[in-house]
Amino acid sequence: MKIDAAKGILSAAIYYPSPNFDERPANQSLDLLVIHNISLPPGSFAGNYVKDLFLNKLDTNHNEYFKSLADVKVSSHLYIRRTGEIQQFVPFTKRAWHAGVSSFQGRENCNNFSIGIELEGTDTDAYTQVQYQQLAQVTCVIMQQYPKITLQNIVGHSDIAPMRKTDPGTSFDWDHYKKLVLKLVTA
Ligand SMILES: [Zn+2]
Repeated sequence: MKIDAAKGILSAAIYYPSPNFDERPANQSLDLLVIHNISLPPGSFAGNYVKDLFLNKLDTNHNEYFKSLADVKVSSHLYIRRTGEIQQFVPFTKRAWHAGVSSFQGRENCNNFSIGIELEGTDTDAYTQVQYQQLAQVTCVIMQQYPKITLQNIVGHSDIAPMRKTDPGTSFDWDHYKKLVLKLVTA
């Protein structure tokens, strides 16, 4: 697994360019990794609705819940499915719209300085082992490419938006994940 540094694209990902991004502030350092979860409809792991959402192609008449997403413009850099498939929507060099109103160590608007990774899941369903493996591998190459992203600078969405967000949830095993990453970065 590697990153094309100029393009900001992960070699192992399937790239679906999302319109939901903009430029990072000039001379912005990139020093935070944010872990999320999403599934559409919530708790359903079939279909391609998350991809559709990030591409502004979600058929909001398909499902009652989807109506609430009609004017939502969001994206993440990466989306890791239950099968381990990795999709990329925004180059790492650009600002994806994943964190919303957020704050990390007193710095607001985390989208400016972070990479966002969505896991297909919920706050309560255990993530798959292949998701942990893929997430750990991706984290390793991200840390190599962007060395200010250290293990201490990997957080959940709930850590930077605690009043609004609960993902990646109690189902996410931080200890397991960080051990896998440590094993890779020290290998
Ligand atoms: Zn989130």
